[in-house]
Amino acid sequence: MKRREILKTLSLLPLSGAVTASAAPLTNMLTSTDVKRDLFKELGIRTFINAAGNYTVMSGSLMPPDVMDAINSASKKFALVDDVQEKVGAKIAEMCHAEAAMVTAGCWSALMLGMAGVLTGMDTKRVSQVPNLAGTGMKTEVILQKSHSLGYDHALTQAGVKLIKVETRAELEAAINENTAMLWFLNREVHKGQIKHQEWLELGKKYNLPTMIDIAADVPPVENLWKFNDMGFDLVVISGGKAMRGPQSSGILMGKKKYVSAALLSNNPRGGIGRGQKVNKEEILGMYAALHRFINLDHKKEWQMWENKIAFIAGQIKSIPGVKTETHIPPTDNNMPTLKVTWDPAKIKLTNTEMGERLRQGNPSVEVISWEAPNTFRCGMHVLEAGEERIVASRIKEELLKASV
Ligand SMILES: *Cc1c(COP(=O)(O)O)cnc(C)c1O
Repeated sequence: MKRREILKTLSLLPLSGAVTASAAPLTNMLTSTDVKRDLFKELGIRTFINAAGNYTVMSGSLMPPDVMDAINSASKKFALVDDVQEKVGAKIAEMCHAEAAMVTAGCWSALMLGMAGVLTGMDTKRVSQVPNLAGTGMKTEVILQKSHSLGYDHALTQAGVKLIKVETRAELEAAINENTAMLWFLNREVHKGQIKHQEWLELGKKYNLPTMIDIAADVPPVENLWKFNDMGFDLVVISGGKAMRGPQSSGILMGKKKYVSAALLSNNPRGGIGRGQKVNKEEILGMYAALHRFINLDHKKEWQMWENKIAFIAGQIKSIPGVKTETHIPPTDNNMPTLKVTWDPAKIKLTNTEMGERLRQGNPSVEVISWEAPNTFRCGMHVLEAGEERIVASRIKEELLKASV
C-alpha cells in the first residue's frame, strides 16, 4: 500500500478501532519512517494556513524547533517543579531586568496570580482565603482606566477584587482609599487612556500603591520585555504563546521579588487559586527556550521578511480592478506589518465575511482577519510558515477574480 492509501484507510476507520486492533497490523507492515501519525487527519480536525495572527482561538502560535527540543528533553526526566520554576525564574528575571519572574499558565494566569501575590504577601493564611476577601483584612479594590477595560481585567477579579474604573487623574485620586490594592494598566490601550505610563507610575509612588502592566501581545519590539521593568512597574505580565512562540499555555509574571514570591504561594504545586492553572516542567522550560530564542532573533531580518511577503502577495493582486493593498502596522499589540486588502464593492461582489468564509472553506484552508470592517481584510505575515505566502496569494487572487464583475 502507498502511504497515501494507508492514511486514507486509517482515516476511514472508526476511532476506537484505529487505536486498538485494526491499526496494529497496518503499522506493523511499515517501518516507522514510512508513516508519521497525523492525528489531525485521523480525528478529522481542520488545519489551516494561518494568515491572521496569534489568536488564542486559532491555537496561538507554532512552536519552533528550539522550543520543541526543550520540551522533548524536559519530558525525559523528573525534577521538582519548584526547582524548575526557581532556576528558570532567575534566568528570565535576569534577561528581562526584573528582580524575579515565574512562568504561568498564560498571561491570564499571570494577571490572576500577580494580583493574588499583591493581596496576600507571604501570609499563607491569606493565601488560603483568596478569593474570599471579606473580613480577612486584605485589600479589595483595583483601579484602572475605563478605556483599559477590555475583558482581560476580569482575570484580576478571580483573586476576589473589585474593579474601579476611572477616566481622569482627579477621578483616580478621588477613588483611592484604604481598600485600594493596586493600579492596573493595559499597555495595548495606552493611546486611549488619558493617563500614560509615567503619570501612572508617579501616582503609584505618591499613594504607595503597587502597579501592574499587561503587555500580553506587545512584543515585538523585543525591548518591551525589559522596558516596563526598567520604567518601574512593580509587576509585568506577558503571554508566552503569541509572537514569542512558546507554549500557547504559557506566560510570564515578573517584577518585584516580594510580589512574585508571594504569587508562587498561590500557584501549583501548592493548593491556592493557581492550583488549577498548572504549568508542567516541559512548558516552563519551553517558555524559557522561546524567550531565549526570541531575544536572540535577528528582528530586523524578521521584519524585512514580513515586508517581502507583503510585497509578494500585494504584487499578485493589486492589478485586479477595484483592489487596493496597503501595509498596516498595529501601534502597540501585535506591532508587526500586516497586509490590508480593500476592494470596491461595485467591482467585486463579495462581503468581508464571505471572503473569510471562502478562504476558510478552500483547499488548503486559509484564515485571515476578515471581521474588522466591510470590504476589507488583513493578513498577518509573522504566523506564515516558509513559502505559504505563495498559496495565500493564489487563493486570495482566485476569490477576488471569481467575484469580479
Ligand atoms: C492574549 C491576552 C491576554 C491573555 O493571555 P494568555 O496568554 O492567552 O492567557 C491578556 N491580556 C491581553 C491584553 C492579551 O492580549
